[in-house]
Amino acid sequence: MGQASTRSVALVGLHPQLVDIEAAAVPGDAELYLVGLPETSVWPARARIRAAILNSGTAWPDARITVSVSPVIPPVYDAAADLALAVAVLAATGVIPPERIAGRVFLGELALDGGIRPVRGVLPMVRAAVRAGLSRVVVPAECAREAAQVPGAVVMPVTRLADVVDQLRHGTLRDHHDQEPESEFALSSSFAVDLADVPGNQAARHALEVCAAGGHHLFLSGEGPATMLAERLPGILPPLTDEAARQVADIYSLAGRLDGAPGSTPPLSAPHHTATAAAIFGSVAGNRPGAVSLAHRGVLHLADAPEFTRPVLDGLCRPLDSGQVHLTERGRSVRYPARFTLVLDARPCPCLEQRECACTPEAQRRYRARLALLLSRVAVRAPVEWGDCGARAGESSAAVAARVLAARVRAAHRLADTPWRTNAEVPAPDLRTRFPVAPEAAELLRSAVNTGLVTADGLARLLRVAWTLADLRGADRPQLDDAAGALELWKGADGDGAR
Ligand SMILES: [Zn+2]
Repeated sequence: MGQASTRSVALVGLHPQLVDIEAAAVPGDAELYLVGLPETSVWPARARIRAAILNSGTAWPDARITVSVSPVIPPVYDAAADLALAVAVLAATGVIPPERIAGRVFLGELALDGGIRPVRGVLPMVRAAVRAGLSRVVVPAECAREAAQVPGAVVMPVTRLADVVDQLRHGTLRDHHDQEPESEFALSSSFAVDLADVPGNQAARHALEVCAAGGHHLFLSGEGPATMLAERLPGILPPLTDEAARQVADIYSLAGRLDGAPGSTPPLSAPHHTATAAAIFGSVAGNRPGAVSLAHRGVLHLADAPEFTRPVLDGLCRPLDSGQVHLTERGRSVRYPARFTLVLDARPCPCLEQRECACTPEAQRRYRARLALLLSRVAVRAPVEWGDCGARAGESSAAVAARVLAARVRAAHRLADTPWRTNAEVPAPDLRTRFPVAPEAAELLRSAVNTGLVTADGLARLLRVAWTLADLRGADRPQLDDAAGALELWKGADGDGAR
């Protein structure tokens, strides 16, 4: 009979929380008490630990065992602590030497047969452990590569509880040495696509460039290569800073999709229109971020946007306005970051029969009206079209990216003393007071408001785009042409944005 302690990590949203796990065994009935786990987790955790230990060839200890977790793990996603709980039980009852688990971090969910299942979010959890000076981490074998990406981590991969017990008893639990340490974000880049592949569509290409330069949202209307254009937006955005790339990798890790993380390229997230609200926004149960968070610091593309459900379309306004999602379910809540550039596209009407369309103007209007709330937040609109496939190849992504970067640097310089980095982020009052445009430009935009073409809210969006056009020209402030250009981009081709 004895005592043992070890460590694990819990995640709430993206926030890792190191936990102490202490076990004490005293003579008594063979019972296991878990303290500090959320109430709903206690029974399943106890069942997994008991079954896994029994299926690992170890007799259940004839002792009254209490395992306490502190601080209390919030009720979000706690199965990652299973392995730590099990080794604490075995160390307190003398099956394994307690000193061999102290100072180590154990991550892994137990299967009933004693297998160790992979867990999501290993990257942020291991990073938190290393930051706290706990560099020796025991992780499920499937997660070893991911854990090894954290500089300084000494990773021990394991597959079965029986092996862990055996190796801890014999002092043979080995570090993960058979693999070269990988650079932290040398992950697949899926953006081997180039703007030069998109024929024609000059207006849409220009709109895409403006959105990249200023961080504005984009609406593409009509039948055309909208998806091709959206897929090429990450490639013309400036690469992510190291810190942003880390945050994006953490989100992909938590989603269990680190292999799809974009490295230093801003991510592209393009959910299908049949996706559920949970797939789009994430879910508290299981601590799982959704498509909007997989787009964080990158691009969210909604193809055939009016086909998405109403709760999804209207629900997107929240992250667009706040840069995050806040989910609450049965008293539990998490937040995930979700600051992205939105690209929407829509066909003119709900039918697929472009040539023999019999939709009434009213049906078409209703179809587009589904986007009204979102479109009120979109500053740039452009038409797309098929048809000019014979058109000359357009500029390459590299050429456009260079102009985008120059414009971003110009904006960042101007905004250096502010919390904002792109024109799209500047609040309306500051646009008026701190960043005046040329008088002729102001005059043109005022008249657009006076004639009812643009609302007062819309005016701020026009000013932001005018600033981006000035930045792209390398000018000090927006002139008449920039204001006119912003107005054109606001209206789009068919004027349907004009509200
Ligand atoms: Zn139709």
